[in-house]
Amino acid sequence: MRRLRARPGNGASGGVIYETLGVPTLINAAGTVTRLSGGIMAPEVAEAMRQASLACVDMVQLQAAACRVIREATGAPAGIVTSGASAAVLLGAAACLAGLDPGRMNRLPEVPDGRRAFVVVRSQRNMYDRALVVAGARIVEVGIPDRYSGPGVRDAAAWEIEEAIGPDTAGIYYLAQAQSRPALRDVASIARRHGLPVLVDAAAQLPPACNLKRYLDEGADLVCFSGGKAIGGPQSSGILCGRADLVASALLQMLDLDVDPETWSPPAEFAALAQLRGLPHHGIGRSCKVGKEEIAGLLVALQRFAAADPAARRESWRAILQTIMDAAGGDDLRIASGPVPMLAWDVGPAARGLAARLLAGQPSIACNMGRADDGVLLFHPMALTPAHAHEIGLRLRTLR
Ligand SMILES: *Cc1c(COP(=O)(O)O)cnc(C)c1O
Repeated sequence: MRRLRARPGNGASGGVIYETLGVPTLINAAGTVTRLSGGIMAPEVAEAMRQASLACVDMVQLQAAACRVIREATGAPAGIVTSGASAAVLLGAAACLAGLDPGRMNRLPEVPDGRRAFVVVRSQRNMYDRALVVAGARIVEVGIPDRYSGPGVRDAAAWEIEEAIGPDTAGIYYLAQAQSRPALRDVASIARRHGLPVLVDAAAQLPPACNLKRYLDEGADLVCFSGGKAIGGPQSSGILCGRADLVASALLQMLDLDVDPETWSPPAEFAALAQLRGLPHHGIGRSCKVGKEEIAGLLVALQRFAAADPAARRESWRAILQTIMDAAGGDDLRIASGPVPMLAWDVGPAARGLAARLLAGQPSIACNMGRADDGVLLFHPMALTPAHAHEIGLRLRTLR
C-alpha cells in the first residue's frame, strides 16, 4: 500500500487521508448519523484534539476538568465525557445498578441481589436502550402505546409506571423526545417518591441549547447527550451529567484501574469516590473508554455550542439550504422548519429510486430518508459545507 498521508486537503474534499486510503468521501445530507461517520468538525475542535495528542495527562484529572466545563454548560452537579451517548446510557445504568459499592461494580453485568429492573415506557423503547441490558439491567415495559397503534389517544400513564416498581427496581429509563409521554416531571416525581434514579437519553435533543439544562430541571438524575451530533464534537464522544455520586460511580466503571490503591486519591469533583471501601477492578465501562483527544475536542465543541447565538446558527443552516435551492432551481423544494431546518424535496413514489440515484452518483450524496414513505426526500444541513450544498443543488437539477 502507498504510504499514508494526512496533509491538509482542500475544504471541499476533506483531508487527503481518505484518498490515500482509497475510501471515497461522500456528501452527507442525512444528518450526523454514525453509519456515515457523523458530521464535520470545526477547525478549532480538531485543533484541540491535535494539541491534546501532543502530551500525556492523568485521565482522572482530565475528567475532573471536563466535570467543571460540563457543570457550567449544563448546570449539573457533575459530568464526564464518554465515548458517545450510547456509552453514557451504559455507564449511567451501571452507576444506578452498582452505586458506590465496589463489590457490585466488580460483578456487573451480574446483579447478585437481582435489583436490576429498569422501568421503560413501551412507546419509548428504541435501538439504543440495549445499552441498559449490556450493563446488566433487565427492561420492564409498561403501558400500551395506542397513540400510535389504536385510537390515537392514550399512552402509558404515570400510575402504570408506579405500579411496575418493585423490590427489584433499580431505576427508570426515559427517552427524551418531543412525543415522549408521560411528562418527565411526572415520571421524576414518582421516582423521587420511591428513591429511584431517572436516567434520561437526550442524545439528539440539541438544539435548542437550553435542553442542556432542561431535563435536570425537570427532575432527571442522569442525562446523556451525544457529542458527535449538534454539539459538533468528535464522532465518538458524549456526555453523562447529573447527580455527583452517580457520575462518580460511572466514571470509576470506565477508568482504567491498574492503579496502586495506596496512591489513589480522587479529586474534589469526584469526592464521592473517597467513601469507597476499596477500589474495584476494571469496570464494565472499560470497553468504552474515551481518549484524551476526544475529551479535549468535546469540551471545546461544547463551549462553542453553548455560547453560539441560536439565531445565527439557524441562519447558517438556512443559508446552506438556500444554496441548494438556488443551484437546483425549480419549485419543488421547500424549507421544512423544526429544531434543525431541513430542505424537503417532494417527489412522491419516486423517492426511494431518486435517493438510490443520488447515492450512486459521483460523489455519492446521502439524503435523509425519514419521510421517504410520504414521498419526501430531506436534506439535513448539519454535516454539509456550502460547497457540498452547491453540488447537491446541481445534482438535483440533473435528476428532475
Ligand atoms: C444518536 C443516539 C444515540 C447514540 O449516540 P452516540 O453518541 O452515537 O452513541 C443514543 N440514543 C439516541 C436516542 C440517539 O438519537
